[in-house]
Amino acid sequence: MSKFIDLSGQVAVITGGSRGIGKATALYFARAGADVVFSYVKNEMAARRTLEEIEKTGQRVLAVKADVSKFSDVKKLIVAAVKKFNRIDILVTNAGIWEEAAIEKMTPAKLAQTVATNLYGTFYPITLAVPHMKKQRSGNIITVSSTAGQRGEAFHSHYAATKGAVISLTKSLAPELAPFGIRVNCVAPGWVDTDMSHSALTGEERKKILSAIPLGRAATAEEIAGAILFLASGLSTFVVGEILNVNGGAVLIG
Ligand code: NAP
Repeated sequence: MSKFIDLSGQVAVITGGSRGIGKATALYFARAGADVVFSYVKNEMAARRTLEEIEKTGQRVLAVKADVSKFSDVKKLIVAAVKKFNRIDILVTNAGIWEEAAIEKMTPAKLAQTVATNLYGTFYPITLAVPHMKKQRSGNIITVSSTAGQRGEAFHSHYAATKGAVISLTKSLAPELAPFGIRVNCVAPGWVDTDMSHSALTGEERKKILSAIPLGRAATAEEIAGAILFLASGLSTFVVGEILNVNGGAVLIG
């Protein structure tokens, strides 16, 4: 990768970095020169593979098992990052789950799990990283929403509601934190070919899903990571509170 995008000397924390978009982002950041801390929740094998791939870039890396839905786990993640690297320059709140539930089957437990993972799991790392960023008087936070948060998603109302909330959270924090040199932005992906969407993208719905995307295909995880890297980089220093659509033209709103 060209050094035009240069994150040398920066420390990036990415939640859910063992697989999918988080993994692609962790690798892009490392290739751009950042040291990387990433979390995962259960997939030890995937976390180990990601760790090894990042090590091959020559950057320093730390993998922390931490459930983003639990404040104590997220605290462990942020404390470990600061203990190892002394600072946090970039935070990507990427970890999330996408589960199906018709509204009449939306049990309190299902609802709570999605809200705790996707929404509280976005709030928690931000609340804990911001004091460090304020002390540094610089920082860069990138949240991960979804087209579901912009246009809604049938049978995934809990998921869509959390992703809509991530957009309002981003728009609230952007002006709150910009005076401290902290930029807050959001990437809103459409369909991305990862483990999360694999069954939908290979199942009966495939044709219908792809026909609603002007580019006619799902994104790769790297195509989302590229947008996240842009928002984390020196190429976007005047971009604040942006909801960056990366959806192949499927949903044209901010
Ligand atoms: P993925 O392939 O399923 O990977 C999810 C990642 O999040 C894994 O690293 C997983 O860790 C981690 N994770 C899940 N629950 C966690 C928890 N409670 N605590 C900590 N880590 C947790 O998902 P993806 O497709 O890359 O999605 C990443 C983000 O993009 C999500 O926020 C998702 O909503 C959003 N998004 C995805 C799509 C899509 O089509 N894929 C579209 C729009 C938005 P383990 O490996 O340990 O399980």
